[in-house]
Amino acid sequence: MSIQTLQAELAQKEPREILKSIYSQVDNIAISFSGAEDVVLIDMACKLGLKPTVFTLDTGRLHPETYRFMQTVMDHYQLQIAVLAPEQESLNKLTQEKGLFSFYKDGHKECCGIRKVAPLRRYLGGLSAWITGQRRDQSKATRDSLDVVELDGAFSGKDGELIKFNPLCHWSSEQVWNYIRALEVPFNPLHSQGFISIGCEPCTRPTLPHQDPREGRWWWEEADNKECGLHSSSIISK
Ligand code: SF4
Repeated sequence: MSIQTLQAELAQKEPREILKSIYSQVDNIAISFSGAEDVVLIDMACKLGLKPTVFTLDTGRLHPETYRFMQTVMDHYQLQIAVLAPEQESLNKLTQEKGLFSFYKDGHKECCGIRKVAPLRRYLGGLSAWITGQRRDQSKATRDSLDVVELDGAFSGKDGELIKFNPLCHWSSEQVWNYIRALEVPFNPLHSQGFISIGCEPCTRPTLPHQDPREGRWWWEEADNKECGLHSSSIISK
């Protein structure tokens, strides 16, 4: 199965159809859970009876609301979510040498590398493909050319190449929230406080309605630098 074949088959389909098609063709796949979009995908997959494997990254710096939200999602869908933690030795070295807020001075890449990218790399190394809730309109700077299916340019899978599926790639924020409201899908209560894109507590702040959602992340850095390394291929491909 080539990426081109998958792209041709899935590009025009709706997210539910994309998920059905993915699960009928690919084994050893997991959904990455963090934001509102990811719960929409979990909801669709569970309602299709796909029994998805789901994982999330616990950086140790998330809002208390986010930890409670993880448990809410597990309880709501009767689902175990694999919670990935950073490797302790690298984390100790970072915090002992640079303290707990080095990202404000040195940029976020080093801390994200230890708390997010390394645990993700280890986990993805056991998969053939992963599914994300990324959408094009989340960021003009880094996600504008996103496709429904991509060869992951940043990580490798169990047999080498790793496929990344973005079934909500063409959906707008409004479509996501219409789905959440209509089907009473659980969402992080921080969204009701003006947070749109939610990451770690020290690196996330609320945004205004006219702002690019990613402007609330790492606001002290340039707009084209606002990926934490999980979706570096979105930058590489630009
Ligand atoms: S988002 Fe901030 S606290 Fe979280 S891993 Fe990245 S730099 Fe560290």
